[in-house]
Amino acid sequence: MGRRLLIERATVFDSAAGALRPHCRIVIDDARITAVSDEPISVGDVAQTIDAADRVVLPGLVDAHVHVVASSHDLSGLALQPPSLVTAHSSSILRGMLQRGFTTVRDAAGADFGLQEAVERGLFEGPRLFIAGFPISQTGGHADMRPKGVRQREFFCSCAGLGLIGAIADGVGEVRRAVREQVRNGANQIKIMAGGGVSSPTDPLEGTQFSIEELRAACEEAEAANLYAMAHAYSPRAVTRAVQAGVRSIEHGNLIDEATARVMKAHGAYLVPTLATYVALADEGGKLGWSADMLEKLKRVHSRGIESLKIARAEGVPVVFGTDLLGHMHARQSIEFDLRLGAMSPVEVLQSATIEAARLMRQEGAIGELVPGAWADLLIVDGDPTQELSMLADPKRGPRLVMKAGRVYRDTLQPA
Ligand SMILES: [Zn+2]
Repeated sequence: MGRRLLIERATVFDSAAGALRPHCRIVIDDARITAVSDEPISVGDVAQTIDAADRVVLPGLVDAHVHVVASSHDLSGLALQPPSLVTAHSSSILRGMLQRGFTTVRDAAGADFGLQEAVERGLFEGPRLFIAGFPISQTGGHADMRPKGVRQREFFCSCAGLGLIGAIADGVGEVRRAVREQVRNGANQIKIMAGGGVSSPTDPLEGTQFSIEELRAACEEAEAANLYAMAHAYSPRAVTRAVQAGVRSIEHGNLIDEATARVMKAHGAYLVPTLATYVALADEGGKLGWSADMLEKLKRVHSRGIESLKIARAEGVPVVFGTDLLGHMHARQSIEFDLRLGAMSPVEVLQSATIEAARLMRQEGAIGELVPGAWADLLIVDGDPTQELSMLADPKRGPRLVMKAGRVYRDTLQPA
């Protein structure tokens, strides 16, 4: 047997039940939880004991929409940076996320298997990383960052390996190939651009992207590899087409209406709203150097953010935690907890960042829950997060302890 760790006097947040279980002991062997009990249990030889002092212990948080390589909001500028520099920036973005309590993140394009491995080998301190590789985009779609007039197809990819520039694919054959390339390079999920976006220069917000056949081909190739597709989409039309083609998770979805939410529910799709990024971008406004068109698109999606969440909740669509921040705005990741309280209870927000995220990512039993067999990813926090979330949302507070795979990365339990 390896190294055994014990957490005593834990008030465990049971994410499946949405309730607290006081007076628990959590037994951890190496990287995994082996027991959680409020009955006296014999624990044998213990290498280390952590006293939670009746504080709440949460499963490690999951942010299901991040871009850990987005060290700048200028995405075309980013694509021209050398991969070594992008990676160096990513290491501090990853560390920041882990310190805020995110022990797992789902990268919505940009990160590659090298970054994932750097975290796994302990070269970088960061959350466990689920990667999408390059986002798949049609010509002129949301991940086609070429300025108007540029004709070469490989405008960016020739000089940089990282960044958010899409794999451009047109037609069913190219889409299949582009998805297979991501699978070949170790993708955990496939990201497709199914509609217009804010940060791209030439596509209208309300437009749809890819034909139904192309969307189906992308989902089919993802499922063939036992993966699933996540789609960037805002408008009812774009969301409906994507979900009908087999997409599992709709990213952003700000403009959805009731009818669209019902289609999502019928197809078992998830909504991953990303409210934090619109607040951050709106605050930055003109400083971004974005075109008037882009700022206008931003205003429209920003104003509809919380409304879409209410619509999804009312129709029973599962909602998962996401943020989608870029550049220096990553520091605002935890404001998402506060923003969601406009449409959800604190318990529901916590579930969206734990158990719901695990279900979406098909990682139930491994993350998002404090149960035997799960990774020992957990936080110890002050206060009662089932009542209010300032201990997570306020950047000056944050978790008292952050553990990932049985290793402590932050500990302010003992006064210095
Ligand atoms: Zn994104």
